[in-house]
Formats: sequence, C-alpha cells, structure tokens
Amino acid sequence: MTKKYKLFADCIPIRGYRRCAVCDLSNRNLFHIRESTYIAIAHGDLIDADDVGIDELNALISSNLVFECPPELVGLFPPMRMEHVQPMAVRSAIAELDIQKQYDVREAIEQLSVLGCAHLQILAYADVMYADIESVITGIEGKNIINVDVVLRHGIGDLSVMADRYPFVFSITAYGAPRTDMQKRGGCSILRTTEPFTGCRQCGAVAPNQFVCNREFFFLSGGYNTCLYRKVAIDREGYIRSCPASPQRFGRVGETPIAGAMSQPGFRRLWGITKDRVDVCRDCEFRRVCPDCRVFTRDPHSPTAHPARCAYNPYLARWAGQAGYAPVEECGEFTPGGFVPDAERIARLLEQQDAHC
Ligand code: SF4
Repeated sequence: MTKKYKLFADCIPIRGYRRCAVCDLSNRNLFHIRESTYIAIAHGDLIDADDVGIDELNALISSNLVFECPPELVGLFPPMRMEHVQPMAVRSAIAELDIQKQYDVREAIEQLSVLGCAHLQILAYADVMYADIESVITGIEGKNIINVDVVLRHGIGDLSVMADRYPFVFSITAYGAPRTDMQKRGGCSILRTTEPFTGCRQCGAVAPNQFVCNREFFFLSGGYNTCLYRKVAIDREGYIRSCPASPQRFGRVGETPIAGAMSQPGFRRLWGITKDRVDVCRDCEFRRVCPDCRVFTRDPHSPTAHPARCAYNPYLARWAGQAGYAPVEECGEFTPGGFVPDAERIARLLEQQDAHC
C-alpha cells in the first residue's frame, strides 16, 4: 500500500503570491515549497508521492515537516490551536535615557512591572554614564521584568561586569566600538558594533535575519500587530508613546499613569493591524514571521500601508540586489484602496527573470 504522510501540526503552510512556505514553529525554520504542494497539504490532508512528486516528498521528509501516518490514525493528530493569549497588560517596553532630559525612570519601571511587563529595552544616549545605566538596572531587581536588553555607548564601562552582575540582562549592544564582535557571557550576548547610535530611526528595516519563526510570534501575528501590540515606549523626555518613533504622545511619566496612557483609544489604534491586512505583505509568504513597522510606511495616513523599508518583492520572490529584482511599484499600482497587483506586468517581469537565470 502507498505510504501516506501528514504535515506535523506545528508546521504551518503559508501561501504567497509567487512562493509558498512552511513555517516549522518548533524547529524555528522556514522552508519554501511548491504551490502544488501547498494545495495538497494546506487543509491537513494526507499526501503521498503522487500528490506532490517524489522529490518534493523526500524533501518534506528530510526536512522533518511530515511524518508517515496510516489513514486510520489521522484523527489522532488534530490541528494545533493557534491562539495568542496575553494576560499581561504590557508585553514589552522601551525606555530611552538621556542625561539632558531626565524623567523618573525608576517610577516608569515600577509601573511597567506592575503592568506585567517582562521585556524591557533600555536605550541610552551617548551622554549617559555607566553609573546612570547601572542605577536604572538595579531598580529592576526583584521586579516582574525578567529580560532586559541594554543599548549603550562603547567605552563607558565594563560590559562583562554588567552581564555577570545582572542575570536578567539578556543582551548588551555597545555602539561606536572600534570593531564589531560578539561575545557570550553566561546568558548574556554582548555585541560591540562600529555602527553609530541611531535610536529608533533604524526601526522598520526588513531583512531575513529579523524573521521570527516560533509559536509565540506566529500566534501573535495571526491576530495582532507584532510590533505595537501591548508595547509601551518612554521617550528620552519621559513622554509615553506606543512606539518611540511614533509622533503621537499620550502623557508623561510622573503626570500620566502608564496604564491611563494605554487606555486612550489612539494608543491601541494599530494593535489589530496584522500583516494579512497590510498592503503587499498580504501577498508575501513571510508575513507571519516578519516583524512589522507601522511608523515608517509608504503612506503615513493609511494604517495598512506597506512598510517603507522592506526590500523584498513577494510578486517576484526577490530581495533588492538579487538578479531579477524589481521594485514592488513595477508589479502593480498603489491606489487609495491599497496596492493592486497587475498580473500581466508581473508575468512579464517573471519572464525576464527566467530569461536571465
Ligand atoms: S513584503 Fe511585508 S511581510 Fe514580506 S518581507 Fe516585506 S515587510 Fe515582510
């Protein structure tokens, strides 16, 4: 009898305009598959070599995406429930530090902790001293915040000491270093980079190394905006924002409680914008693993505009710089109602792509 195979429940197929993929959420990998394979596996049906071809089936088996499943046992493997449950009022927060424009950071941390925030990024501007940063970090001890990323200027102190002394410091990034290197110190990653500090101005750039292929992110991306959902940013002057790069402010630490700022309707306006709704992204096979940005977009007036700093064209399945790449604009029209792909233009570009390969 022909052997039948089934996709593992945590391997989720995603269809893009040009390519399809499977997100392996446990092994944190993404595999491209043929469209015919997507059609065969999308609804959880059993497959065999006749459905997808022997080469593709072998690729699925060797990538550990499918397992042999006798038809009589198929009912034992139901689909996974993909629900994002977030009991905490705050998922993550960013606190900027600037010695010139102080606010009560400890007060902000206290409030964030009460709101259940587990992840905090501290962004220290160039004039902030090591002792100032350490004094903020000591204020985190014993709080609900269990994972801290610190971004600071190179040369202001011994980063190894910080990594050793504070086990909840998960990463330290030192900008302006003479050379770039990465060091692991216990559970902390220390990155020294020659890059200058750009604060939130570098936000929104999309590259494959930013993709997050795991259950938490995938479930989140199905229902919420992966950047903004339950995030709080405190800018260098203490103003509370939904994102440090966002122009809108919702009060100031010390004057407005963070919980009060978050309950203002504008703060949550973009929390429900998934990439399934975003221009161009809705046609991209990476949309469930690709972090979003709602600030640096092609149209600041549209909540669902395409991220301006994306260098991928899902209609041609090419990154900028690859042979056969063309900007998304050449594949359709950006209209007031959203991007409309033009199948004929895309087909012509794909023909040219094939001719070059
Ligand atoms: S098109 Fe959208 S989902 Fe795809 S890589 Fe770009 S930003 Fe990410």
